[in-house]
Amino acid sequence: MDLNVPFYRPQICEAEIEEVIDVLRSGWLTTGPRVRRFEEGFGAAVGSPHAVALNSCTAALHLAVHALGLSPGQGVLVPTMTFAATAEVVRYEGGIPILVDCDPVTLNMNLEDAAARIETIRRGQQLGGLPPGMPVVGIMPVHVAGLMMNVDAIKSFAARFGLWIVEDAAHAFPAAWRRSALEPWQRCGENTADVTCFSFYANKTITTGEGGMATTHDSALAARLRLLSLHGLSHGAWDRYSMGGSWDYRIEVPGYKYNLTDIAAAIGLHQLARAEDMRRTRESIAMEYRDSLADITEIELPAVDANRVHAWHLFPIRLRSELLSIDRDAFIRQLQECGISCSVHWRPLHLHPYYRTTFGWHTSDLPVASDVWERLVSLPLFSSMNSQEVAAVVRAVRRVCRDAMSRRFAHS
Ligand SMILES: *Cc1c(COP(=O)(O)O)cnc(C)c1O
Repeated sequence: MDLNVPFYRPQICEAEIEEVIDVLRSGWLTTGPRVRRFEEGFGAAVGSPHAVALNSCTAALHLAVHALGLSPGQGVLVPTMTFAATAEVVRYEGGIPILVDCDPVTLNMNLEDAAARIETIRRGQQLGGLPPGMPVVGIMPVHVAGLMMNVDAIKSFAARFGLWIVEDAAHAFPAAWRRSALEPWQRCGENTADVTCFSFYANKTITTGEGGMATTHDSALAARLRLLSLHGLSHGAWDRYSMGGSWDYRIEVPGYKYNLTDIAAAIGLHQLARAEDMRRTRESIAMEYRDSLADITEIELPAVDANRVHAWHLFPIRLRSELLSIDRDAFIRQLQECGISCSVHWRPLHLHPYYRTTFGWHTSDLPVASDVWERLVSLPLFSSMNSQEVAAVVRAVRRVCRDAMSRRFAHS
């Protein structure tokens, strides 16, 4: 019997446990000195002068679109290949997510398709069930699996159409890109968007259990995000109750309850310190997968690029279904029977009931995502994975492919 390999297992060390215990003993549990240190450390790690810690990436995305300006009936370009959160925050503001197809190789948003969407809307033509002629105000790129998009291309696209950029970097820490080998690296969050939003959800590249961070180079915007994150109060509890603080606050704007706790930041401080080590471990596992699975013709492996520092949050393979006797769901079931837990990133948004019925999207409106998602399988990839677990995944993928191949030939 082979090993059971979970899809994900967080890497929690004694340092995190000790720090959480220290917080619990300290008498200060919510937003306080550890959140402040986590923000400073994270900002330094991504090269951003301002970092605002929040209780999720979804909260960061929401505050970002709210602060940059989104009114009911306005449209925002959102990739269909993403998690629910990216489009959901547009709805929070009464805005309309304009779904954009993906690049067939990277799965990232296709900017040519995004441009075509804007042209269609501006010509007053019908697009899905969206209101014709609506204003388009923003774009929300997602760096799928941690492989960054071309940031210059996003910026010139946004400038051409007069859009703000909120980057969903839930997968992209630590990550970087460069135009070419002759150009310097730019880290994700190093002025790569108006606001960049990171996730510290339990299975992300670093975790605080639940948590997120918004980074920006604009100090006024950072101050506004901070204000919005705690009910719009003029100063937070730490400022009120620590030595010399005043009990008296003012509600300056209508805000939200999105602050991170010191308990979460205690975990984050140590995860942050190990972030690059953990990324390197994931990278070496990804390279091991690439080497060990390279000769299997029934699958395609994820793209790599010499001009990207890949965060390797995910390792999405693609089935060449024409060579297999089983579909993706059966493939995942058979891996599960071998003890290997996998996932799919993602069923595209336009194929979910809510988006289909509310916005009238059809499979044919987003043909690349509609086709590719049926072949996607994300293999386990996490920094606490050991070499026996990696080997068990490779063996199981090989076995399932071989069995599906031979069945196919037996049938034909
Ligand atoms: C995980 C994820 C989010 C949401 O992160 P939370 O911290 O759970 O709110 C948003 N976008 C993408 C692409 C994600 O994978």
